[in-house]
Amino acid sequence: RAKEAGRNQVQFYEAAMHARVAERALIEAELRHALAREELSLVYQPKLDLRSGAVTGMEALLRWQHPTLGSVSPARFIGVAEETGMIVAIGRWVLRMACTQAMAWQQAGLPALRVAVNLSARQFRDQALLEEVRAALDDSGLAPQYLELELTESLMMHNVDEAVAAIENLKQLGIALSIDDFGTGYSSLAYLKQFPVDYLKIDQSFTRDMLDEPRVAAIVRSVIALGHSLGFKVIAEGVETAPQLDYLRSNDCDEIQGYYFSRPLMPDAFAALLRSS
Ligand code: C2E
Ligand code: MG
Ligand code: MG
Ligand code: MG
Repeated sequence: RAKEAGRNQVQFYEAAMHARVAERALIEAELRHALAREELSLVYQPKLDLRSGAVTGMEALLRWQHPTLGSVSPARFIGVAEETGMIVAIGRWVLRMACTQAMAWQQAGLPALRVAVNLSARQFRDQALLEEVRAALDDSGLAPQYLELELTESLMMHNVDEAVAAIENLKQLGIALSIDDFGTGYSSLAYLKQFPVDYLKIDQSFTRDMLDEPRVAAIVRSVIALGHSLGFKVIAEGVETAPQLDYLRSNDCDEIQGYYFSRPLMPDAFAALLRSS
């Protein structure tokens, strides 16, 4: 009996593993064509200043609409795109599309806002990145102060000296930089001061739990203080409720992003929101 149970267990694990391998292969095969088949698009989530209530910018987030798989979430495909290197081409497309969209909104007379683009580790290490950012700005006509790149801690900690140099080069273009998902990676406080970034983004897991767990609240307050004392602005992601917003405001957080104010929106809906706000 025990033996049989053991065998069932093994079969169960094997089935689960096969399913994972098959899923990954499917995503990889389909993702190869996603760009050419124009299945990728961007949605935009507003960032809000906590003092004035004004929209300060937006984060561009990738969406994949597949004809039979339906909408595939970034959680399912960004990792595969990274591992296969496809993220380099996809990321280049995202960068260009986000700059073009931001410029189109400015030309349509909407308030000039900064657009944030997520950068993967692979892109960050790509020697061509600097030139690609420059080209995306030149070709779209977007002024550099309206572009922000979101980097993760782990991406920078991989090779600190190289990362500092790459960040300094990007900063010289005149763009803004932020550290995304702050508090979840492997950042070393000793290195933090060397990164000339503009924003720390408190990860949404902290925002989610801070009102239930005093220790999480303590971390949030400390990150805000730390960010400010290093000269960064601090933004909290994943704000879903009014009490979360109030707590962040009373603790001097600068900006928020989250479903409470708005979900990520398709371009037309985002423009409508800007017109009405
Ligand atoms: P991220 O950069 O930390 O983006 C924030 C994620 O939180 C987004 O998920 C957003 O839709 C979601 N979110 C925003 N407000 C709330 C909220 O109030 N509650 C909750 N529960 N979630 C909220 P999304 O769009 O599924 O993206 C997931 C991750 O995929 C992103 O995390 C980013 O790491 C990656 N990603 C998305 N687009 C791109 C891209 O163009 N390039 C790269 N390299 N990565 C991307
Ligand atoms: Mg982000
Ligand atoms: Mg984030
Ligand atoms: Mg995140």
